Amino acid sequence: MKTPQISIVAPLYNESESFPQLIQRLSALMDSSPLTIEVVLIDDGSKDDTALRIRQLALTDERYHGVFLSRNHGHQLALTAGIASARGSEAVFVIDGDLQDPPELLPDFYKLLQEGNDVVYAVRKKRKESFIKKTGYHLFYRLLRSISYVEIPLDSGDFALISRRVVDVMNKMPEESRYLRGMRSWIGFNQTGFEYERDARVAGESKYSFRQLFGLAYNGIFNFSEFPIKFMSRMGVLAILISLVYFIIVVIKKLFFVQVIEGFTALLFVIILFSGVQLLALGIIGEYVLRIFFQSKNRPLYIVKEEIINREYI
Ligand code: UDP
Ligand code: MG
Repeated sequence: MKTPQISIVAPLYNESESFPQLIQRLSALMDSSPLTIEVVLIDDGSKDDTALRIRQLALTDERYHGVFLSRNHGHQLALTAGIASARGSEAVFVIDGDLQDPPELLPDFYKLLQEGNDVVYAVRKKRKESFIKKTGYHLFYRLLRSISYVEIPLDSGDFALISRRVVDVMNKMPEESRYLRGMRSWIGFNQTGFEYERDARVAGESKYSFRQLFGLAYNGIFNFSEFPIKFMSRMGVLAILISLVYFIIVVIKKLFFVQVIEGFTALLFVIILFSGVQLLALGIIGEYVLRIFFQSKNRPLYIVKEEIINREYI
């Protein structure tokens, strides 16, 4: 009986096309590595035969460990499930199942871990993705960094090697709307970046819909920043000050000058502007309230339908 030192965790949603290449590269990595490694593959409710492939593999190769979710829960929750099932005693290596994060970098990451780091996160030097996506990511990470109360590294995703003690903390964090890279940064200990070039997908298309991508960005901002809500209250104070000044001007005019009817357009403009500001403010409060609402339900974060673990390998 052996305990794996490292768990490689990869969430898969409809990745049938890239599956053979993924397994080939992971198996080659395990064969050549002096470390004992298990691979946790999470089926995030795939509609193709990804689940079937994982099942067959986990039943025949003891190094593969399959976790099957009851339906599609999204990348962050699939990862959460995988990290929770990982048994690696030293660290968990989080990668994407489409091979955009080369698993072969494990030895480099592991070296940095041994040098006293608890988290080695990947920093993307280059991305092989569309211009719009690249620009969007670039701007988002810089915006988040400037408003977040946690220092979240730039251009780094979930691709990381995370020590057992940090994984244990992560597993205890019950937050419902998860932004794992933010949680990982929040935990602290020694964290360091490792630069790499993000590959293009080996097969298929991105499984992140635009809605999911925006959802992730929203979670980053509203879970790790107080800025939006503080900004709104500051705007409120500013508006009150401006209106006070305006009020004083009007009174002085009334006392010392001839009364003139004026400013209907300005009035209309101000009314529309501030109804807009108020709606925005309500929306921002709503984002936080929504998160409280979902959290207060206390539902399990995800539902595991089935798990195939080789019990010999514990
Ligand atoms: N993924 C998942 N559930 C989802 C969407 C994506 O498990 O609902 C997986 C997907 O199979 C891949 C990883 O998460 O292994 C990253 O997704 P994707 O490549 O689509 O995202 P991108 O690289 O385009 O940001
Ligand atoms: Mg991808």
